[in-house]
Amino acid sequence: MKKVFYFLPLLFSALSCTRPVDYLSFPKIDAHVHIDTFAPDFALLAREHNFTLMTLVTRSAHQEHIDREFAWAEAQHSQFPETVFFATTICLENRNDPNWQQLTIDRLKQDFENGASAVKIWKDIGMTFRDPDSSFIMVDDDRFDPIFDFIVSQGVPVIGHLGEPRNCWLPLEEMTVRSDSNYFANHPEYHMALHPDYPSYEAQIDARDNMLSKHPDLVFIGAHLGSLEWNVDELAKRLDRFPNMAVDMAARICHFQVQERDKVRDFIIAYQDRLLYGTDLGVSENSTNLDWIANTWQHDWRYFTTDEIMTAPQVRHDFKGLKLPPAVLKKIYYQNAKKWLKI
Ligand SMILES: [Zn+2]
Repeated sequence: MKKVFYFLPLLFSALSCTRPVDYLSFPKIDAHVHIDTFAPDFALLAREHNFTLMTLVTRSAHQEHIDREFAWAEAQHSQFPETVFFATTICLENRNDPNWQQLTIDRLKQDFENGASAVKIWKDIGMTFRDPDSSFIMVDDDRFDPIFDFIVSQGVPVIGHLGEPRNCWLPLEEMTVRSDSNYFANHPEYHMALHPDYPSYEAQIDARDNMLSKHPDLVFIGAHLGSLEWNVDELAKRLDRFPNMAVDMAARICHFQVQERDKVRDFIIAYQDRLLYGTDLGVSENSTNLDWIANTWQHDWRYFTTDEIMTAPQVRHDFKGLKLPPAVLKKIYYQNAKKWLKI
């Protein structure tokens, strides 16, 4: 009898290690979505799947476009204050106006009062906007400094999609994941292999790193694995160098799946406080069937929580799930987004 009691704790700990983590009862945050509609379906689906959503207003070219996206985001947040949070953005349309910086700051102030939790900046900085002499405006441009200083003073995080996956600078057939070859086949304007006169991959990464060096107090979430999706060692270097930087995984989980499995798993465990689960899933006013959203969430969950052999449409070979420890799952799926996005 004594012996049985002696082994009981061991038995229980063995059971708790092997017990699968339950998807529905596990609180989760998708830190990168785009809800471009007033319709409640995405938020309701999120509730059903125990997800909180962070929707990002994006593209900086036209105030009219930003206003439309902002109205959707703000309405979603007021209708679902516990389920949907949102990031605003800055507009570069009138960047040559001498009052542009002050007007941008005034606008941000108002956006924060209206419920925005973060500021998103997009790849059009570095890839689209040019000065009259046709040189590209990069994110480390001094003209952004007062705006970043204001954001820091408000304690608000910036979510930056800057540059693109390294694949963007390669020919379509050399890209490591199918999602990139498909996207750039459909968006030649962003396929940098076709635009040798545009800034290089390294120039994009350097501009971002330089901006972070200039603003060490800025809380920065690098969207899409900070455009260092191709190599966890490169990403680890930046996370070591910039303690106020975290990254979301949106639309780049497939890049984990094409790297060496045990190395990726070790990386995620080592940087478990700096990684936010996110998808980049979006809905528009025309979206009707949202099954693919639920499928993506469940597919990703299987990848992070089991060690099953899996396939994905983006990946050309099969791969093995990471089966991360529950404490790490809690951080990447929930606690990190709460902390970094202050939601
Ligand atoms: Zn996005």
